[in-house]
Amino acid sequence: MTVQITDAFDGGNIVVRSLENLEQIQLEIRKDAQSDFYQWFYYRLSGARGQECVMKLTNAGGAAYAPGWTGYQAVASYDRKTWFRVATSYRDGALTIRHRPERDAVYYAYFAPYSMERHADLISRMIMDARVRLTVPGRTLDGQDLDVLEIGNSDRARAKKIWVIGRQHPGETMAEWLIEGMLERLLDRNDPVARVLLEKAVFYVAPNMNPDGSRRGHLRTNAVGTNLNRAWAEPDLKTSPEVFLIRAEMQKTGLDFCLDVHGDEELPYNFVATAQGIPSWDDRLHDLTERYKTALVAASPDFQTEKGYPSVAPGKANLTMCTSWVSEHFKALALTLEQPFKDTTATASPVYGWSPARAKILGRAQLDAVFAVIDQL
Ligand SMILES: [Zn+2]
Repeated sequence: MTVQITDAFDGGNIVVRSLENLEQIQLEIRKDAQSDFYQWFYYRLSGARGQECVMKLTNAGGAAYAPGWTGYQAVASYDRKTWFRVATSYRDGALTIRHRPERDAVYYAYFAPYSMERHADLISRMIMDARVRLTVPGRTLDGQDLDVLEIGNSDRARAKKIWVIGRQHPGETMAEWLIEGMLERLLDRNDPVARVLLEKAVFYVAPNMNPDGSRRGHLRTNAVGTNLNRAWAEPDLKTSPEVFLIRAEMQKTGLDFCLDVHGDEELPYNFVATAQGIPSWDDRLHDLTERYKTALVAASPDFQTEKGYPSVAPGKANLTMCTSWVSEHFKALALTLEQPFKDTTATASPVYGWSPARAKILGRAQLDAVFAVIDQL
């Protein structure tokens, strides 16, 4: 049987350099379009059942966050549902994945993928609940719809406006897994936290801010190489329509809290980055931030507050980023939630690492933290 490797599907990314010897497969990760960013990979290997495969990603050393490869294990799946970790090592600028497939076809990826087809399924499943409204504020440069789900108290004058967005960086698929878990809990009619929140608030949720980068298999940018999380100060329809449209939508609805969900290549922890360092930072925003973090620690042992990014000095916030721009503009609590590509350190799961199932549970826990701050927002 001929051995094949392909990335010609939703979210795929790999370039095959050599496939002659299974123990010396040479691959490269493709750069994001019109950009030097790359790190996301996703491909299918077929025809190698029972044979030892050594796959070398030879350009790993030039990836966006090369230190992220240290201690990293790639994920693999036969059934496209369960993604398990496979032996991976990083040396001399190359990432080497060793695996003996037990089936005729196997997928490998940087993290469990979340395809645009799955995104479409999520939106359709959500709108089957009559409480959910869908808004499409516009389209991306590749012509895909930008989806915003609206759930909760329709008395907008009275309700708190809570925005949740994910995948500005499309390779951070764990963001959409997390949001899927949060949405499922929000619609559980037996969950008292969800019921109270939907009474007090209206949620605006954009599970995928970057459909083009997602479908193209990008790590960090949209169809024309824009890093959306550096476009919040001056978005435009030519290079960052995703931010332009969502920002305008936020200004239309108002905003009392924004959670921007991401993944971090390097740090083996879940943590939040805050809007500390914006001109309007004050005791109220500080207290709300601390209250949210404390409630999330209580709700999930997978979350912690000891490790994270260094704190930002007063006045030094980068206002091109969502969390800082939103917090400054609306004088509201805004947080960037980071999840690991690797695993959590204190609550590690060696077979799966950080995973879709665990991201979804952390998504559910966000509602406990929102519940802890809702009356102060
Ligand atoms: Zn990110």
